[in-house]
Amino acid sequence: TAVSAAVISSSLVHLETKDSPEVHYEDIVRKGRFICERNLARLLAYEIPQEILVLKELGVRFDMIGDKINAGWAPGHTYPRGCRCTTRMGLEITRPLKNEAFRLGVKFLPNTMITKLITDLIDEGVNGAIGINMKTGEPILITSKAIVLATGGAGGIYKYTDNPASMTGDGYVLAYEAGAELIDMEFVQFHPGLIHPPLPKQDIPYHSLVVRGAAFRNALGEDIFKKYNLIDVRQMTRDVVSRIMMAEILEGRDVHGKIILEISDENQLNSFDGTFQKIIQFQKINVKEKLLLGVLPLAHSTLGGVKIDEKCQTTVEGLYAAGEVVGGVHGADRLAGNALAEAIVFGARAGRYAAKFSKSRKLGVIDKGQLKEELTGVDLHHIRGEDQTLKTLKDAFLDIMWKNVGPVRSKEKLDKTIELIYSFKRQIKELPSVKDGIQRYEVFEFTNMLRVSEMIAKSALFRTESRGTHFRIDFPNEKDEWTTHIAVQKSAPLRKIPVV
Ligand SMILES: Cc1cc2nc3c(=O)[nH]c(=O)nc-3n(C[C@H](O)[C@H](O)[C@H](O)COP(=O)(O)OP(=O)(O)OC[C@H]3O[C@@H](n4cnc5c(N)ncnc54)[C@H](O)[C@@H]3O)c2cc1C
Repeated sequence: TAVSAAVISSSLVHLETKDSPEVHYEDIVRKGRFICERNLARLLAYEIPQEILVLKELGVRFDMIGDKINAGWAPGHTYPRGCRCTTRMGLEITRPLKNEAFRLGVKFLPNTMITKLITDLIDEGVNGAIGINMKTGEPILITSKAIVLATGGAGGIYKYTDNPASMTGDGYVLAYEAGAELIDMEFVQFHPGLIHPPLPKQDIPYHSLVVRGAAFRNALGEDIFKKYNLIDVRQMTRDVVSRIMMAEILEGRDVHGKIILEISDENQLNSFDGTFQKIIQFQKINVKEKLLLGVLPLAHSTLGGVKIDEKCQTTVEGLYAAGEVVGGVHGADRLAGNALAEAIVFGARAGRYAAKFSKSRKLGVIDKGQLKEELTGVDLHHIRGEDQTLKTLKDAFLDIMWKNVGPVRSKEKLDKTIELIYSFKRQIKELPSVKDGIQRYEVFEFTNMLRVSEMIAKSALFRTESRGTHFRIDFPNEKDEWTTHIAVQKSAPLRKIPVV
């Protein structure tokens, strides 16, 4: 959230009077290709206006015209409803929330990585968590009556992503190991982004650029938007643009692995925000002579995840979840600004219901004997410096995920990836440090990345159609019989479950 562009989609709080929660809800269902959980999508659309007022009271600042928010439009939304924070930075949202948490006396455990949720021996719910202090290597044991999982997404399993590299999907594995059901793991959203060092990696406002006459060209110099007849700005959604870019790259019409964004005048540059324009000036880049920038699809957000009900309760007693780690709110694709709306609406709900549940539950008894292995901690003394073998494995893995499980997929690519994931798992066991019994959290993190990727690749292989962000070159059409979720759960085969 802190690194986001801080745009929150909501009706009612902005100038467009024709917009309403119902229209917002209908947009979510259409964009999600009819497999979002209707009750959750409805909650998002109906509760976000009120939550925005709460954020304003806590000190979050939005672009205003009078007492209304000056909202922006993005493809897929019927009306402009993207409520932008003044600084365009997610810190604008997280800072006031953190201050409020401090004021309420919430205790923080900085530098802590949770590695396992503890399952109660009696009622099979969760009653605590184990983690590592990444600065001291000390193990940490937390007991609790309820847990809210809010660990975000898994963009970090792809070579090219706008997520921080640490977003590796730990939460999916924690929930899976605790026995929770996960859904829609095959849906990962990509967004056209800039990869042009020394300029900062970032999403690009491609529709605004195209409207102002900028072009995206392949190695043959073809304007790829024109080539794919992508002329109507309403059709220029992230999934479509990412897919055509990826198709050009995979078919070899790339320029050093990228598509070229050609900016030919300063007006086009105005599509970017002020900070980016200052960087361009700082780099002394002269736009009058045509600016050529490398772009490609970046992994942006994970749409699948832990299945929840309206109270954010997962299928495991005592385990609640909210935000990007959850699946089912958006379905097969997500509208811009709806990820933060989801995190805010369901974050508030999860907190309320977890607190209520805690009042009725006794603290379970933890059998520390069974946890001995996890509680040994990390011997930091042994693991200073980078493990080169691990880094080589990880780099190869990230590249494979991007090429094979990205915006364009096929049975052949997915089969190969699953085979390689098994091979990486075997190779991890052969790493010298692992053989010596030294626990490294990098190994824990990489193992989690492989496990999340396995869930995504296997679900993508299982879904023999194309829908939303999931595009199969061998099954290019949407099929009615696939208007379902795919559920992933420990000790159970992948299976279709109905959309509610
Ligand atoms: C560059 C960028 C721009 C974006 N802009 C927008 C936007 O403008 N509007 C919008 O709607 N969406 C946007 N998104 C998406 C949106 O920001 C995210 O979906 C949302 O912030 C997720 O919030 P969250 O609370 O679920 O997770 P996060 O905010 O990602 O927080 C998860 C936290 O869990 C911690 N964590 C993870 N694993 C562990 C572990 N094992 N132990 C302990 N802690 C752990 C992480 O360190 C992190 O602090 C953007 C995303 C990116 C990457």
